[in-house]
Parts: sequence; structure tokens; C-alpha cells
Amino acid sequence: MNTEANEDWVARSLAAVWHPCTQMKHHERLPLIPVARGKGAWLYGHDGRRYLDGISSWWVNLFGHANPHINAALKDQLDTLEHAMLAGCTHEPAVLLAERLSALTQHTLGHAFFASDGASAVEIALKMSFHYWRNKGQTQKSEFVCLANSYHGETIGALGVTDVALFKDAYDPLIRHAHVVTSPDARKGADAVRIALADMRKLFEARAQHLAAVIVEPLVQCAAGMAMYDPSYLTALRVLCDEFGVHLIADEIAVGCGRSGTFFACEQASIWPDFVCLSKGISGGYLPLSIVLTRDEIYAAFYDDDMTRGFLHSHSYTGNPLACRAALATLDLFETADVFNENRRKSSILSAGLKPLADHPNVRNLRERGTIFAFDAVIKDASRARTFSRRFFENALKEELLLRPIGTTVYLMPPYILDDDELALLADRTRATFEATLAEAA
Ligand SMILES: *Cc1c(COP(=O)(O)O)cnc(C)c1O
Repeated sequence: MNTEANEDWVARSLAAVWHPCTQMKHHERLPLIPVARGKGAWLYGHDGRRYLDGISSWWVNLFGHANPHINAALKDQLDTLEHAMLAGCTHEPAVLLAERLSALTQHTLGHAFFASDGASAVEIALKMSFHYWRNKGQTQKSEFVCLANSYHGETIGALGVTDVALFKDAYDPLIRHAHVVTSPDARKGADAVRIALADMRKLFEARAQHLAAVIVEPLVQCAAGMAMYDPSYLTALRVLCDEFGVHLIADEIAVGCGRSGTFFACEQASIWPDFVCLSKGISGGYLPLSIVLTRDEIYAAFYDDDMTRGFLHSHSYTGNPLACRAALATLDLFETADVFNENRRKSSILSAGLKPLADHPNVRNLRERGTIFAFDAVIKDASRARTFSRRFFENALKEELLLRPIGTTVYLMPPYILDDDELALLADRTRATFEATLAEAA
């Protein structure tokens, strides 16, 4: 136990590290948690305090921190090959990973392109779609479509298909905007899917010959505040995209890898998109890795003697063997354990634990999909609503929970390895944190 070390790391971090997605001045009073180590669902401070990682460290961790199987695979890989470039060379982890992901799509998406983070995967899918149409002689197809409240990353290209004002507005003059159409967010009522599809059809009818692709977050628009919608939207969108000759890009960076209840969220709509973006959970939360899967037919449109018809995109660490090996070990864990049935059982425990919130006067839209749980807090006072997320975060720490609401939306997205006691603890203390935060607001 070392409280001094804890305070020292906080001071040094605030002096030297520019933290992501943070107004740094808030840290004048908002605590910063120095994490000394992690084990299973828990993160530990130097001061001996512990925090249940209720949001999987920004949705990346699937099978716990310091997972023995992934650790062993990485240690072996480290002594075998840490990195080799993927242009002109290839290596076992990249090949095996591409093969296994292709098999998970029943070989519908037979080729894998590697990158390092989610935003890059999104930009790769956008570029590939545009370049495919260009190679087919359809150079006018250069526009993209995204949903209202979509989030696809924060690089300048990815912001073009992102519709979150907080992340986007400051950079508006730099951005090439996509068409933004109505989201099928189920909170809008029973007609949400029909209205969203009608809006998409209207745009397609007016503009399809200029549209390269539609990009969606299948089933859950996570960063916008866990907006969930019915799979039937995706099934109908696939038909619409085929009818009008527009690519469908599924950004499964957050909802993929089992998060939604199936390995790919698109499986619940019985469709395959033209491109799938994976990142976050694919390496088990260990190393930066992203992948764009696409159809062999799209790959074939780039296959030519002419260099410029090829996809000339690269990142230095493309297909890094350590990251690919972590992903292979993560896929092993899906094969060796009954992950989907177990997750359904765990989710029902968490769901039962959160159930009392359904009738709470300050709660709206208690909802879930797979291992994602969310509700919207009703906070009348506007200034208390603005600080709700930070105050909830602080109160959660007192309950040994790491949780970061998005605005006034409280959500849980825990790793898949919580035992029954941890699930009960997470539900009970989330409710206690909510009550404590409301009490402050009074
Ligand atoms: C996190 C996320 C991204 C961006 O991934 P980064 O690795 O943070 O760049 C893109 N799309 C979705 C749906 C995400 O959740």
C-alpha cells in the first residue's frame, strides 16, 4: 500500500501527459486514478484500492486484465517475432487471424486489411469503397452516408461520418461532411425503424448515383449514449443498399467480438455487409489492432497490373504480430469456453440486479443488448445535468467501480469474466452510485 506513490503519479501525469477526451482543467478537482496493475475484472491502485472495470477500459477488454491464456500467447510471440512489415513480407499470426475471421463470416468476407486503431479502420473502409467504385468507372460515387448521432472515430476523415457535436464542431471547417440520416434509435418509438428507413430511401432515390457507402454501428450506437435499435433495420438497409448499388459498411468496432450477443452484431439481422470494421475487443483489450474485412469481389476489383488500381494504404505497424497473436488467443477463448451462453446467463443476472431502476422516477429507457446495459438519468437542473457524468464517476470510485456515464446516460459494458458475486456487486453499487449522485443534485 503506497498512498504517496499514488499521489506522485497523479502529479507527474498531470504535469506531463495530455489525457484523451478530457478538459484537463477538470482534473483540478476530478480524481485521476493511477493504475498499478490489473487482474480479471479489477484494476488496482498503488494505494491498495481496487476498481471493478465496469466499462472494460473503454470497451476493449473482453476476458479480463492479465488473462493467463492471452499472456502466455504473447510471451511466446515475443520470443518468436515481435514485428515484421506486412508489405512484401507475411507472417503466421496475420495469416491465421485473416483465415479465422473469414471463417467466422462463412467466408463471405474473405479478405482482411490490417491497421492499428478504429478510426483508421473506418477511413480504410471509406477509401476502399470509393476506390472500388472508381476502379469500376463510377468516379462520381464519392459521398458517404451516416446516421444521426453516429460515432466512427475522431481523425479528420472519421469525423466526416461522425455526428457527435462535442467531438466535431470545433473542427467543422476541416471536415468533409457525409449525409446524415435519421437514426432508428428505439427510444423514438415503435415507428423508429420505419421512419429511419423511409429517410434513407428518400436520400437514395435523390442521390444514389453519387453515394459510395452507408456506414452504421450495428444495433447499438455506443458513443452517442448506447442508442439501441432493432435488427430489422439492418436487414432492410441491406436490401436497400443492394437495390440502389450503395456499399454497406458495418462499424463493429464496439459491438463486434460478442459484445452484442453474437460474434458480429450483423448476424442478428441475418446479413453480411460489404465491409466490417473491427478493433477494440479483437485483441482482447491488449494491443492496438484494427481490421477491415471485405468481400473477395471487392478485393478482385483492385487486382490488376496497374499499380494505381491497387489499395495503396499503409500504417507502419500494419498487422503487428504481437497484436495479431493477442487476437488469435482471444478467438481461442471464444472457442474453448461457451462464451455466448455464459454471457446470456451473466447478462440475466445483471439485468435482474438493475431491474428496480425501471420504476425509478429519475430513470428513463432502461435497456440492454448482449453485455451492454444503459439507462438515461432524468436530472431537471441543467447545470447539475451537465456535471452529472463527472459526479457519477467520482461517486462510483467510492463504490470501487470504474464507470463513466456519457452525458446523463449511465451504462455498463463489463468484461465477460465477471463471476456471480461480481455481477451482483456491479448492479447493486451502480444503483447506490446513482442514488448518491441524485442526492447531491437535490
Ligand atoms: C471506438 C470506436 C471507433 C474509433 O476507434 P479508435 O480506436 O478509438 O480510433 C470507431 N467506431 C466505433 C463504433 C467506436 O466505438
